[in-house]
Amino acid sequence: MTIYNFSAGPAILPQEVLQKAQASLLNYEDSGMSIMELSHRSSLFLDVINQAEQLLRDLMKIPENYRVLFMQGGASLQFSMIPLNFAQHKKALYVHTGAWAKKAIQAAQMVPNVEVEVIATGEATNFTAIPTIPEEAFDQEAAYIHITTNETIGGVAFQTIPDTKTIPLIADMSSNILSNDYQVEDFAMIYAGAQKNIGPAGLTVVIIREDFLNDTPIFSPMLDYAVQAKNESMYNTPPTFAIYMAGLVFEWLKEQGGVPAILKKNQEKANVLYDALEASNLFSSPVDPASRSLTNIPFVTGDDAIDKLFVKEATAAGFENLKGHRSVGGMRASLYNAFPLEGVQALVEFMHTFEQKQGE
Ligand code: PLP
Repeated sequence: MTIYNFSAGPAILPQEVLQKAQASLLNYEDSGMSIMELSHRSSLFLDVINQAEQLLRDLMKIPENYRVLFMQGGASLQFSMIPLNFAQHKKALYVHTGAWAKKAIQAAQMVPNVEVEVIATGEATNFTAIPTIPEEAFDQEAAYIHITTNETIGGVAFQTIPDTKTIPLIADMSSNILSNDYQVEDFAMIYAGAQKNIGPAGLTVVIIREDFLNDTPIFSPMLDYAVQAKNESMYNTPPTFAIYMAGLVFEWLKEQGGVPAILKKNQEKANVLYDALEASNLFSSPVDPASRSLTNIPFVTGDDAIDKLFVKEATAAGFENLKGHRSVGGMRASLYNAFPLEGVQALVEFMHTFEQKQGE
């Protein structure tokens, strides 16, 4: 039976990448050592990390004046590090688009001496649409504006990036980095947990404009962006294997034609599912068509018992991890870069058959 894994993360990785990694686990490039056994200071590993960075720079067209950091602690640690580094005794502006934005806001509120202001919220639509930011909310004195480009649980995504004028814009891009073609120049900082579109969990990628790096030291060097940048992501032992895997994924993505080509494929995949949801009398998307995510697509029948039955039967048929997040219920299909078009087509066919059976 073919298994299609719709997990929101850790998520599917390209087969070619896994095969290369398998060989490197025993003997990395005829070194007689496993990729996992390389010293992070060795020239072999320095090539790995430098190549990974260069590939990411090429894929995202990262300008020279931005630094790429390979860090740990997940996107969740960034939620605390950002206010700690940039908003001490200042105001930090947040756009509340759903579950992940909420976590970022809550973490910022816990940092002393930071004034957190939520300048727009999707609450009125139960977070099924990206809210509009009122023009007067752009307080030019603010330390930054934080957005979540793609809400992994709610399935809403920014289609265009707001123009924040001179206020530095920071984005949690965990679930659509390298899927959408956002421009790095529009941001002072981008961060993403790796486990969706980049590689194994345990790695966090940060892209930060040099002039935005903090110039006041933070109480902990590990939490200090300037220290991490000065030490080229090697203040301590970095997650070497995860960085190696990320490099392989970047290489694979380049072979696919880079971000523009994968974006086209992602649009095609998402359209197959959204069109099926529009045509269905049983399943529907709760998300406003103008805010729909390409990578995380929630859908519902409106009846919990039928949702449960669908998930059970779909799992038995090889469609894994379709259960919606515990906070919202229903179903969710995550269609990251490595997810194949055939998998979405097979799912849509399965949904159609299920719907017909329900109508009998
Ligand atoms: N932000 C978004 C948009 C996410 O989807 C996730 C995880 O799924 C996180 C943050 C948290 O990431 P981590 O588990 O790497 O801390």
